[in-house]
Amino acid sequence: MKNVTILPSPLSFIGYPMNFPPMLKALIPNSKVIEPHLDILKVMEKENKEEILSAAEEVCKNTGFDDKNTAYLMFLANVVDQEHKPGDIIAAMKKYKMYDKFAKDANTDVVVIIIDYLRCANESLDLMPSFTKKLKEENDSKIILAGPLMYKNDLEVLSAQFEKLPHVDAICYGEDEVTVPQACEKLLNGENPGDIDGVGVRGKKTFKHTFVKDLNTLPIPDYSDTRMEEYLNYRAGTPSLTVWASRGCTAKCVFCDETNIWHPYRSRNPELVAEEMKHFHKKYKIKAYRMNDLLLNGDLQHLNKLCDLLKGNNKFFWGGMARAESSWNRALFDKMYDAGCRFLWFGIESYSEKMIEHMKKRIDPKEIIPITKAAKDSGMRVVSLLIDKFPGQTENDVKKTKELIKMLKENGCQYHVTNFRLPRYSEMGRHPEKFGLKLKTEEKPSAVCFFEDLNKTYDGQLKDNPNFWYWPLEGTPIVTEF
Ligand code: SF4
Repeated sequence: MKNVTILPSPLSFIGYPMNFPPMLKALIPNSKVIEPHLDILKVMEKENKEEILSAAEEVCKNTGFDDKNTAYLMFLANVVDQEHKPGDIIAAMKKYKMYDKFAKDANTDVVVIIIDYLRCANESLDLMPSFTKKLKEENDSKIILAGPLMYKNDLEVLSAQFEKLPHVDAICYGEDEVTVPQACEKLLNGENPGDIDGVGVRGKKTFKHTFVKDLNTLPIPDYSDTRMEEYLNYRAGTPSLTVWASRGCTAKCVFCDETNIWHPYRSRNPELVAEEMKHFHKKYKIKAYRMNDLLLNGDLQHLNKLCDLLKGNNKFFWGGMARAESSWNRALFDKMYDAGCRFLWFGIESYSEKMIEHMKKRIDPKEIIPITKAAKDSGMRVVSLLIDKFPGQTENDVKKTKELIKMLKENGCQYHVTNFRLPRYSEMGRHPEKFGLKLKTEEKPSAVCFFEDLNKTYDGQLKDNPNFWYWPLEGTPIVTEF
């Protein structure tokens, strides 16, 4: 029988399983998920074991942090950090011929490669020409590249990609659940999937933004092929999964591409969200959920309803991103805590009114401390996400943000700083000149642009983050949330 293999890209999350492959498995008949990135994790761990152990011991000794296992996992995560060390991972893959083996043994009619959009799209894409060539030569499988990595209507990028990827048959844009199952069906039947909205094939001239109009139509993801226990969070004793309660964002910050990629804002029936969490708790004893949402407070009615449905829940915990908007209050945080919410990450970015305005962040700096404090006082772990080196930032702006950091610390809240990045599909990425930025000419079509900062923005050196467990790998913070 004809079959489909779904694989995350080699530079994928290792903190917890990505939601997309199991979701596609649930939607595509006779499909299986394989996870070669976990084999890479094993190899990298073996090769660096002594170094990781001694780094973990050292940090425990120096900081008084007494959970050696978690410290070990944090350093392991650092070793396989795909953003900063893709070269090491690629070298290990080549050394152990990991993808060659898959290409040889795949025995499948269609391969769907999910390029993880976040963080590592550039490097993952760089790996694809040789891998897809091998796959085609050894197997003659049809190849689909998917993942929400590309913005609608970007024909220039599409043709550049096909030029680099002569062995790829189709590239799916937008939200995979709409496009990938249809593209698989067409390819399995020997047809051209080019007439499907959001599916790119050579020579295609027009695109429509494709998204799941009604999130309530999505099935519960099928994790039956997922090697759940090999993800880092599982080994820290908190198996965790991701769940969608909404997609898209109600704001349009100028530096953010996610609000453009996931749009429009839609929320999912809270009954289904609660049911999914309960289902996986029962089936896999999942204790922790990270909501995939760009913000948990996009639809307060739904959030309230979700809390009603999970009232008194102490079986599993959850949390996610939020906007520091005036609609929050202590009673709602208490209600969320009672329903199992244990962590919130607030996208704050800066404490300078001028910078917040410049970013079109649409939050009131005066509300940041009352909101984060109320969440913390209700018992949650609260992390404020900040950005340093934001174009246009001055010494005075940084001074204000440092004041915020001081207050956050006094209130027992944490913070995490990242240096500014320029996502291609943000307003800044599309109009860099308006923000004093010039794209570098050698820049290749990718999710994050390289640029020259014409204003030589002040470097606040805020990234000196004392919370070592928030070191860089996306997904690992949840290890320590509970
Ligand atoms: S940065 Fe956060 S709040 Fe702003 S648009 Fe993006 S997801 Fe929404």
